[in-house]
Amino acid sequence: MPAVRFGIHFDEERAELVRQLRARGITDESVLKAIGDVPRHVFVPEIWLSRAYDDCALPIACGQTISQPYTVAFMTQLLTVVPGHKVLEIGTGSGYQAAVLAEMGARVFTIEWHPELLEQARRTLDLLGYNVASKAGDGSVGWSEFAPYDRIIVTAGAPEVPPSLVRQLADGGVLVAPVGTQQVQAMVRLHKRGASVTATRYEGFKFVPLVGKEGWGGRTEHDMGEKEGDSG
Ligand code: SAH
Repeated sequence: MPAVRFGIHFDEERAELVRQLRARGITDESVLKAIGDVPRHVFVPEIWLSRAYDDCALPIACGQTISQPYTVAFMTQLLTVVPGHKVLEIGTGSGYQAAVLAEMGARVFTIEWHPELLEQARRTLDLLGYNVASKAGDGSVGWSEFAPYDRIIVTAGAPEVPPSLVRQLADGGVLVAPVGTQQVQAMVRLHKRGASVTATRYEGFKFVPLVGKEGWGGRTEHDMGEKEGDSG
């Protein structure tokens, strides 16, 4: 795999990042191995190259971000992916999260709102040899053509878990999404078992907003205020 960029491999930096993630409590070896194998520096804009393995989010095109490695690791660990799983990702961004899932043996389907970002992500994924199905569009309504999915991961902050995504989740499936206001979100993990869905929440995340019909596109700040009041 051509993990070299501008003649630099970054092997040491990547190994150090994995050590940091371990120290911060990431325990799933398959997640740590994937992060140890995927060259994050190929997914970040050239001006951020020297910070590619810092544990922080970095700007990409269209005012979006490549998520912080700890957040990617935390969400992927919550997703409990095994090889062969069909996984839908909403918010391709740089393509890094999709690559981590593909590296773990998942069959990845990913949707990005900005065509320009999707094009760049596709180029990067192709260059690295990751076979990922992708399209530009509104991922808040999912990708019904290939449903159901064993796992669904939303990498942008939503006002609530989009109902279309819950419908497209397989029985026994797991969905992970940051849900909250546009300022702060909780990571929500849903487990679907027949007609029942159980939820676990982890507080304190900050994502760019999920736009579109079942994201903030279908909402106003006023609705958001009412919702907060209701949940008390
Ligand atoms: N997973 C990405 C992180 C991207 S940030 C990575 O590994 O780099 C979130 C992305 O979600 C942004 O690129 C944004 O454009 C996208 N997004 C926001 N709302 C969306 C929607 N309704 N459908 C698809 N993508 C969306």
